[in-house]
Amino acid sequence: MLTTTLHAEDKAILIIHGGAGVRSPEALKKAGETREQIEEGLAKSLLAGWKAMQKGTSADGVEAAIRVMEDSPLFNAGKGAVLTSDGRAELDAAMMDGSAEGTGDGKVNAKRRGGAITGVAHVKNPISAARAVMEMEGSRHVLLAGQGAEDFVLNEANRRKYAIERVENHYFWTDRRLKQIRQPEAEDVRHDPEFVAGTVGAVAVKDGRIVAGTSTGGLANKWPGRVGDTPLLGSGTWADDRACGVSGTGTGELFIRSAVAHDVAARMLYKKIDVKQAAKEAVDEMPDQKGGAGGVIALDAAGNFAFPVSERCPGMSRGYVTEKGEVYVAIYAKDEWKKIEVK
Ligand code: ASP
Repeated sequence: MLTTTLHAEDKAILIIHGGAGVRSPEALKKAGETREQIEEGLAKSLLAGWKAMQKGTSADGVEAAIRVMEDSPLFNAGKGAVLTSDGRAELDAAMMDGSAEGTGDGKVNAKRRGGAITGVAHVKNPISAARAVMEMEGSRHVLLAGQGAEDFVLNEANRRKYAIERVENHYFWTDRRLKQIRQPEAEDVRHDPEFVAGTVGAVAVKDGRIVAGTSTGGLANKWPGRVGDTPLLGSGTWADDRACGVSGTGTGELFIRSAVAHDVAARMLYKKIDVKQAAKEAVDEMPDQKGGAGGVIALDAAGNFAFPVSERCPGMSRGYVTEKGEVYVAIYAKDEWKKIEVK
């Protein structure tokens, strides 16, 4: 569990992560990046989400926050996403609404609703594509893959409604990601990669309504067609207003096999424990393998939150914003929260 000094009154309306793949200060330096850049990226994301929530919904907050991180090459989502072993970006994303009353045939009276896309290669902001699937009228579809997903989200109406843009696959590539697959030994990707995860995620709550979202390029050097935990509701993304919203980051296969995101909410409901305890237990339950595991972010309807990471995970870029718009961020596991004054 992360050791953080929280003021007792701290409650969040939006929490985010920028992945469990935190690099050492030396590795950052080698790549010409700084801790401050990552903190700034997190703060910008939190502020964009906070702004969107002033008039909008928790879904608006999650989408806005994640879009900022997708557009930043610092994170493993959208621009700067990791690449498959054959050099392509294949992106996954999901959004889940913990209290939908249902819209559209096939979704009426749903207790919750969710949408996800997997293996898309030409959608600039996958989180908006996931939202388009979640809100897809007249259909019960939850998860769309590859070409079919792209055909749906890139139609004229969706492009306009969700500001979805088509890009060539090379838009996502960065020197760092190309190097990771060309010289896996040179940076932080080996055959058994240790925490190179940099998936992004967000959970927001407004008027008791919880929405969670996650977006990723997956794991570096992954087999083409590999699907991780991010777009699988219950594994990397989950929301239930009665309990909490969750977004995960780490070795997707472990999250899938432990249904981690759902497990956090289920523990709260069945065991009547709080979000901190439930999130810690669910993460601790995963096998903490060499090069495996990661962390989750979880937020309950009252604004209480948790950011646990597994024992061997060096940290998780993370942050939260209060109702008043105060922004706090942290990166390494033992970091204290740092308040960022956003101009
Ligand atoms: N969980 C993601 C996946 O396995 C990777 C990450 O968190 O960066 O696809």
